[in-house]
Amino acid sequence: MIDLEIIRDARKRISSHILSTPLVHSPSLSHVCGTTVGLKLEHHQTTGSFKLRGATNAILQLTEADRARGVIAVSTGNHGRALSYAARAVGSRATICMSRLVPENKVSEIRHLGADVRIIGGSQDEAQQEVDRLVANGLVMVPPFDHPDIVAGQGTIGLEIVEAVPNVATVIVGLSGGGLAAGVAAAVKGMRPCAKVVGVTMERGAAMKASLDAGKPVQVEEFPSLADALGGGIGLDNKLTFPMCRALLDDVVLLTDSEIAAGIRHAYEQEREIVEGAGAVGIAALLARKVAGLRGPVVLVLSGRNIDIELHRRVINGVKNPLGEMV
Ligand SMILES: *Cc1c(COP(=O)(O)O)cnc(C)c1O
Repeated sequence: MIDLEIIRDARKRISSHILSTPLVHSPSLSHVCGTTVGLKLEHHQTTGSFKLRGATNAILQLTEADRARGVIAVSTGNHGRALSYAARAVGSRATICMSRLVPENKVSEIRHLGADVRIIGGSQDEAQQEVDRLVANGLVMVPPFDHPDIVAGQGTIGLEIVEAVPNVATVIVGLSGGGLAAGVAAAVKGMRPCAKVVGVTMERGAAMKASLDAGKPVQVEEFPSLADALGGGIGLDNKLTFPMCRALLDDVVLLTDSEIAAGIRHAYEQEREIVEGAGAVGIAALLARKVAGLRGPVVLVLSGRNIDIELHRRVINGVKNPLGEMV
């Protein structure tokens, strides 16, 4: 397990390479919830998501020889962008394998950073097979969540949250592979054991939720969603994020696409923030009143903003999701 000390070490390593993002009060959500709600504006992080924290922590610990070989990862888009950025900063080169479900705007940002982009299959699991093939040829894998350096890097958000809101009672984070949730929960509970940490994900394709219910990592079918960054499984051979989420998460909340769309709209209209679907799930969970026994002060992590801007426009105006359903 990753603990507070490891996360503090990660912060020392990455602090000059990443932004410490602002944490602001949300009058509108505080009104909705009847308690203080703060927003951790992590979507303002360089590359547009928190994934730069973990990717930077991993890249900075590679040997010169490993950097020279080049790094490779499977990604739903944001880890690929972060890893490409971090690799370029140290003179290494990234290869990013993605499924066809990854939105074109994310793919093109990764290309712009000079990465070798490969689109393979209709799920993250199929893209992972290409990663395995290229790792056998000598590239160095930097996985998107199930790795100690990634979890420790994402956990640095938790340190910043407790420093900004020392009496925080509930922290709400997006949940997919569990790197964000595991790292943040380890940091928050390491500093403030009485605080609760809640993971939020989408109803369809919630691999971590299904795995927690089953007591072991299981595979679920992957579907298109407004929260595309929450797609993909947790890996049947998951070593770190599954046991950490099982030990540390107090609750997991599931959302429909129309609830997520309402979160994106609220972020834009009330908070004046552009967030992608995965970045809006905390807001959406509060608006849908799906966090049981909510205690304040509450802090939500707005985790990313890399939404196709045309899709954002359509969500604001009320639109169909990728499955053709009105949201
Ligand atoms: C990756 C990602 C998540 C989920 O993080 P995990 O570590 O996979 O659970 C949430 N929000 C955004 C914007 C992401 O890119």
